[in-house]
Amino acid sequence: MGSGQLARMFALEAIPNGYEVFVYSPDSHSPAGGVGAKEFVSEYDDKEALLSFLKSIDALTFEFENIPETALSIIEEFEKESNLIVRPSPNCIRIAQNRWKEKSSFREAKIPTVNFYPIFTDQDKNETPSKVSYPCILKTNTMGYDGKGQVKCKSKEELISTLSTLQEFNHIVEEFFPFTSEASVIIARFQDGTISHFRPSLNIHKNHILDLTFHPGNFSPNIEKNLVDFAKKLAEEIDYVGVFGIEFFIKGDEILCNEFAPRPHNSGHFTQDGGSLSQFSLQLRTLCNLPSPKEIPVRAVTMKNILGEDYKPGSKLWNQTLENPHYHLHLYGKTEARKGRKMGHWNYSGPNPESAFKDWE
Ligand code: AMP
Repeated sequence: MGSGQLARMFALEAIPNGYEVFVYSPDSHSPAGGVGAKEFVSEYDDKEALLSFLKSIDALTFEFENIPETALSIIEEFEKESNLIVRPSPNCIRIAQNRWKEKSSFREAKIPTVNFYPIFTDQDKNETPSKVSYPCILKTNTMGYDGKGQVKCKSKEELISTLSTLQEFNHIVEEFFPFTSEASVIIARFQDGTISHFRPSLNIHKNHILDLTFHPGNFSPNIEKNLVDFAKKLAEEIDYVGVFGIEFFIKGDEILCNEFAPRPHNSGHFTQDGGSLSQFSLQLRTLCNLPSPKEIPVRAVTMKNILGEDYKPGSKLWNQTLENPHYHLHLYGKTEARKGRKMGHWNYSGPNPESAFKDWE
């Protein structure tokens, strides 16, 4: 489901392994279509089109979580009546697309997270401002990503005034956590419960969008172990089968889980040039029950995203970078370079990975 860059990179793994890849989304000339995936172009809630897609495939996975409930229900029903394999389960997608359900799952799995409060009713709207510590962040409960749909409020008055402008409930309020670093773990869980994972990475965001990933993140052994244990706990708690990326805030010894994405994650793109398996290979392996190594050694890699405003093929910097064999360019086949749009990424896997993109602006 979906035909963007994550579907493209999945197809680039699956097709050379002998699989045919079909992608379903409302977009034609998509990033995945550009590398040989067959496109089914229709709205997600078009039942007839979705059923004809489901009938033509053997296994289904997702490249994004904001799939409408209508489509998830159709998939769930079809799965019950057929041999279609669906990984991860629609239920895991429902958890990931809803911040309230997501953070409640963290709580149930005893994974520490920020304090969060619902804004689902008039009563919540009236009572929450007195319960929260400030600053806090008001977030849309669904359809939020890369900081979209978020308002930071420094005081009770500011939260009350922001809440009074809301067109609909379906929000949550989170307390702001003054983290010193952000980390993520890419993990794969197979149907038999076996888990493979990469070491945690350190992530740097710019304007709420991932800018750089340093792998491995050079955390203390204790922090590293806790990050991986939390990722495993979540996978087991929600009976997840497939690959996910999970993000954390860190301050000293304190770790709070922010969110997880039920699919390969932008901060896992370092795996493509780490000299070993990529996260997309694990997505394929978990989907198709293929064997997998328990340990996945990866050399140090630094990943930098290329957003629309940084998309400058032919520039001096771009050409100098291509002359260095340690930089690997991945482009997503998007023609329109809008500001903030993810166009591709660089992976650097040579000496001194910490300074690979130091003087870039
Ligand atoms: P999100 O869409 O929830 O991942 O938020 C995007 C980014 O906003 C995160 O990567 C953080 O840098 C920042 N952020 C979100 N929630 C919080 C929070 N509760 N405390 C501090 N920073 C946050």
